[in-house]
Amino acid sequence: MSGAPLLPGPVPFASRAATLGVMGGGQLGRMFVHAAQAMGYAVAVLDPDPASPAGRVADYHITTAYDDEAGLAQLMQRCEAITTEFENVPAAALTTLAAQRRVAPGAQAVAVAQDRIAEKTHFERCAVQTGVGPAPWQAIRSADDLARVPDTLLPGLLKTARLGYDGKGQVAVDDRTQLAAAWAQLGQMPCVLEKRLPLRAEWSVILARGADGQTVHFPLQCNRHRQGILAVTETCPEPSGSTRALVEQAIAATRAVAADLQYVGVLCVEFFVVDDGSAHGQLVVNEMAPRPHNSGHYTIDACDVSQFELQVRTLAGLPLVSPRLHSAAVMLNLLGDCWWRNGRPHTPDWPRVLALPGVHLHLYGKLQARPGRKMGHLTVTAADLPQARAVALQAAALLGIEPWPGS
Ligand code: ADP
Ligand code: MG
Repeated sequence: MSGAPLLPGPVPFASRAATLGVMGGGQLGRMFVHAAQAMGYAVAVLDPDPASPAGRVADYHITTAYDDEAGLAQLMQRCEAITTEFENVPAAALTTLAAQRRVAPGAQAVAVAQDRIAEKTHFERCAVQTGVGPAPWQAIRSADDLARVPDTLLPGLLKTARLGYDGKGQVAVDDRTQLAAAWAQLGQMPCVLEKRLPLRAEWSVILARGADGQTVHFPLQCNRHRQGILAVTETCPEPSGSTRALVEQAIAATRAVAADLQYVGVLCVEFFVVDDGSAHGQLVVNEMAPRPHNSGHYTIDACDVSQFELQVRTLAGLPLVSPRLHSAAVMLNLLGDCWWRNGRPHTPDWPRVLALPGVHLHLYGKLQARPGRKMGHLTVTAADLPQARAVALQAAALLGIEPWPGS
């Protein structure tokens, strides 16, 4: 991808605004649409679901399948540049689009993120330089692979190589019998078996990289998952001592993961801080997302440039600026469970939630509040983390969200 930046606003003599495209119409696409429109771009979304969160707010909504040639042609006709909001968009579709349009991130980077085997292989290559590798793992593609699993990988987690998210497509296994049963349960699809590690913390780093290699990043954030789904993200207070070295290592590792792929766009890399008996723990790289990430939603309200604005800038080839965190923040994911009490539908007490200081509510326009479904998020901003946490805990209590350890 190269060439002149795609400037926002009206295209000379064309009676239309410069237009960005996005493959996928979920909440990440919706927040991209909001950021792009705020800057004066029009946006076209391709998503087969006529009620998709992003499709509903886009200037144009193309409701075909992701690999539909006519749909892709329409998208190219509407847009000067195209991005993706989810990693499972067919890589072939991105290649088709890239033949005629600026596309970021590229098909090859998305293909690596789509497949845990390719992803971990990529992380291992980068580890030579960064010293931060993945958890001990092995690819499971055949019964022979299964028989070769060393005892050191158990207890482990068996994860499908493709299409897993929010803890889906994962089975915890304690021994070989469970492992064989789990692989059968997952349809004997290609998988990775990963050693289950004692986690002290989970971190993520989000960066944006331009076509010229310029890279900016957000400060690292701390994440808490429940049942494999992100529940809470907190900004980290200025790290000190050995933690500072670990944070710097995570940021350097994220930059290396992006640079090695010649990545263009917003990238999130998830890390585990593993309890290895040392004072600060050991850093392990978990997975990457070739797009803005749920753990970066707080950047909308707590940073002077959000991850979605940086996605717009990388796609359009505009200058990247280092984001500044201006407030401490705690983000709570609002799952469909918040709309249920004792098995009955329930409307959250929004007036009381919104009466709390520094609360920013984001709902994605989804109309069916199924348990476990990401319906929205809430970011609490404050002058420091203890204050943000105190308010977030009050909001959590009102919404029926369990308090989180360490809060
Ligand atoms: P997903 O694509 O569903 O986000 P992840 O690989 O990130 O899949 O796993 C989801 C969560 O499961 C992680 O955030 C972490 O809490 C837990 N987890 C995953 N792998 C391991 C591991 N090897 N050891 C311990 N916990 C893990
Ligand atoms: Mg994950």
